[in-house]
Parts: sequence; structure tokens; C-alpha cells
Amino acid sequence: MSWIRKTAAELADALAAGEVTSVELTQAHLDRIAAVDGAVHAFLHVDAEGALAQAAASDARRAAGAPASALDGVPIAVKDVMVTEGLPTTCGSKILEGWIPPYDATVVTRLREAGLPILGKTNMDEFAMGSSTEHSAYGATHNPWDLDRIPGGSGGGSAAAVAAFEAPLAIGTDTGGSIRQPGAVTGTVGVKPTYGGVSRYGLVALASSLDQAGPVTRTVLDSALLHEIIGGHDPKDSTSVDQPLPALVEAARLGAGGDLSGLRVGVITELSRHEGGQGGWQPGVMTRFQESVDLLVKAGAEVVEVSCPHFVHALAAYYLILPAEASSNLAKFDAMRYGLRVVPEGIDNPSAEDVMRATRDAGFGDEVKRRIILGTYALSSGYYDAYYGQAQKVRTLISRDFEAAFEKADVLVSPTAPTTAFKLGEKLDDPIAMYLNDLATIPANLAGVPGISVPSGLADEDGLPAGIQILAPALADDRLYRVGAALEAALLEQWGGPLLDKAPTLEGGAR
Ligand code: GLN
Repeated sequence: MSWIRKTAAELADALAAGEVTSVELTQAHLDRIAAVDGAVHAFLHVDAEGALAQAAASDARRAAGAPASALDGVPIAVKDVMVTEGLPTTCGSKILEGWIPPYDATVVTRLREAGLPILGKTNMDEFAMGSSTEHSAYGATHNPWDLDRIPGGSGGGSAAAVAAFEAPLAIGTDTGGSIRQPGAVTGTVGVKPTYGGVSRYGLVALASSLDQAGPVTRTVLDSALLHEIIGGHDPKDSTSVDQPLPALVEAARLGAGGDLSGLRVGVITELSRHEGGQGGWQPGVMTRFQESVDLLVKAGAEVVEVSCPHFVHALAAYYLILPAEASSNLAKFDAMRYGLRVVPEGIDNPSAEDVMRATRDAGFGDEVKRRIILGTYALSSGYYDAYYGQAQKVRTLISRDFEAAFEKADVLVSPTAPTTAFKLGEKLDDPIAMYLNDLATIPANLAGVPGISVPSGLADEDGLPAGIQILAPALADDRLYRVGAALEAALLEQWGGPLLDKAPTLEGGAR
């Protein structure tokens, strides 16, 4: 099997055994990017030279007997929302075109210190607003399972890169589902850690109280390995949790043994009943979900049904809180400090405000403008209590729903997204239809609890991947890995190999 199809854990073993060098691995992935990214468009920027230099440094460390981490030498792709010193960072927006950050995000610093060569920056919906990556100002990313379909969003680039074997690992960010939903629709694994579990320093903020960076991989163990590298306290982020991470890799290895006896799994009523609910659950997604729950029972888990009555209001609360925070965070793009500056024509001596207005008009896309207007309105005096204040109350009720549910169950489960990947363009003109994709993922962001999406199989209707989401209490991220790895092991046995082996090969299929 070629190197690109191996998991990160397998690559790490091969590097340790001296069977391959990091330069060879990195080159193999760069070759793959060159071969298929014309069709997939997962990357906004590829840094071949930088990645190969980092790979050579990794090989030198290993030759000296001093690898920097378990993943030293395994290449990675990074979502373009993380600032990278010397590498373009656009957040998928024209307003940051040409901006080269002068520093690294903490996540990036940790990747560099751990010796992972950075292949490049991945495509995303502009400022992480979207569920399809179609809101990128640089063109959409295509789902490797079907190039006419969306790869999810906002982190569709990271998920597609991993699903198309362009990178064994990637970094994503999840404000309302942008790691987990792309994972579900591309047949990959994605983890949103506990809020505060991974530093937000250098993550260009969308909604600061919701944003969280995390792993995008092909296996549960690979996510655990990556999470241990990027996670943990960072004094540069005031919301960072000052506690050691739980033993995530150990939990994944334990889970892979397949024994879940004594574990209580709560099926969330509001997110697993497609009759009469919000969002239009696709029958094939529900069937694969139910089968996954049955496998958890087979592994020894006890299944209980739990009701989280306020989850039905999560989407409405999110679309007040997120725009409110985003409108404030995006105010810094004022044509003075970063990237684009448009001087309006036809005005004598344009003022700073004229330049700002013209720059924002040209630099921000429609979805970003929509949310800035919504957020500014929700925060305006006179409306603040009615909208933002109410939404914060709903947020508290959702946290309480989680607290009550975690009294009855150790982890909670639901399908990750209501449907498989839809066609490019299908929901682009219907913001509400787009927002409904995150129905199941948003509650975890509002409450700050961690979640993982694991592939559950292919839906019968369309043969496209579906995902199951596993949620745990804050700081109990290890439970995601234990349960995720147990389920993955059972499913792999059923499928006779990785789900992605069933995806069409892209070689020669480039359009
Ligand atoms: N799709 C959601 C949104 O548009 C989530 C985005 C995210 O997690 N970054 O806000």
C-alpha cells in the first residue's frame, strides 16, 4: 500500500522503524496534492519548500536518536483560520488576501515543536461561516466521494484533504460543527475538544465563546495522538483550561479492545427522532446511526434514552450569539491593519471611513455581511435584552440539559448531521437550509462540551458517508476516544476495512 493511504499512527511506526523518511512521506503527500487538488481544491496554499525543510530537520532529529514527539515527521495540513508565521492566512476571505502573519498560533507552534511538517493551508467558508465551504472567496472545495457535492463546512478543506489522502492529518476549528459535520460527510473523524482544551491564541476569532480547534483525521487513534500534541494549557489564551489533559491515546487504545461494559450511552431524543422534528433527517443516516448504537450495545454498553428539551432552541440562540460575537470580532478588519485596502473612486480626499466602507464592501462576502448586520442589530441598545440576552438564557438552559443528561449517561450520541453531502449550489441561496446542517452539533458548542464524529457507514439512498456524534462532559474528552475507538473497531470489522477504501479513486478522475 502506498504511504499516503496509511494512518498517521502507521506512518509514525514506519518512521520509528526506519522504513521511510519524513522527506519521502512529505514528498508523497505533495505529489498527491499535485495530482488531485486541481479537482478537490482542499488547499488555498501549499508550502512544498517549507514542508520539505521541516521534514529534513525531522529526519536529522531521528537520525540523532531524538524525535520530538510520537508524530515527529508526519505531515499535516492546517485550516487557513490559524495564523502561520511567513505563510499566507486568509480565512477564506478577500479582505485578508496577501496578509502574511508575523507570528504562529499556539496550535501551530506546538505542531512545529512536535516536528510535524506543515503541507499548507486548507480552504474554508469565509471566516468559518458556513456548512459547505462554498462561502470561500477562493472557490468551493469538492467532496472526494463525489466531486459535485459539498465537503461540509466550514472546514471542508481540512476534511477533504484527509479524505482524499492529500494529508494524513489536519487541523480544523469548530464553532458550531465545522470539524464534526465535514467529518460526517467525508467519512473522516473529527474532534471538537472541550472549550478551553486547545489554545485559541492565533485562531482568527469567529465567535470567541464558541470557537475550538481540534483534530481532523481518518482514525480515532490518530485524532487522540494529534489532540495530545495540540492540547493543554496555554497562558496566552485567558480561557485556556489550566489542567492536564486526560490520557487520550490510552483511552483510544483501550477502546479499540472493544469492551464497553459498564458504560452508559444516552441517545438524545430530540436529535434522533426524524418524525416531526426540525431539519429533515435522511432515513439512511438514521439507519446507520441506529446500527452504530446497536454495536455499542454489543460491545457491552447500556443504552438509555435521554431528553434534552431545550436543544430545539439551540439553532436560534446560536444565530444570535454567533453573529453578535462575530460582528465585534470582525470590526478589526478596517482596511488599516490587515490585508486589503480599497480607496473608493470618485470621492475627493476620501476619509478613513470612506476607505473602510469601500474595503469592507469589496472584501467581505454576502454571508459575512449578513451576520455582521444581524449581530450589530442584536447587540444594539433597546434590542439587546430581547435578542442577545434571551439567547444567553437559552444557552444556560442547554447547559442544564447536558448536566441532567450526563447524570443518566456517561456519553451522549446522535447522528452528526441530518443528511449526507448535498450537491454544490443546492443550499447556497437558502441560509436557513444551510444553517440546519448544524442542528445536532451546535448544542455542544453552546455548552462547551467535547464531541467527536466517527463515520457510521454509507447511506443506502446515495452511497455517501454518514457520521455518528459522541458527546462527553467538559474535560472528559478521553470518553470520546474510548467509545469512538470501540465503535470504529466494530465497524471496521463489519466493512472489512476502512470506509474510505470504498471512495472512488481520484487519480485520472481529475476534472
Ligand atoms: N456552520 C456553522 C456556521 O455557519 C458552524 C461554523 C463553524 O463551526 N465554524 O456558523
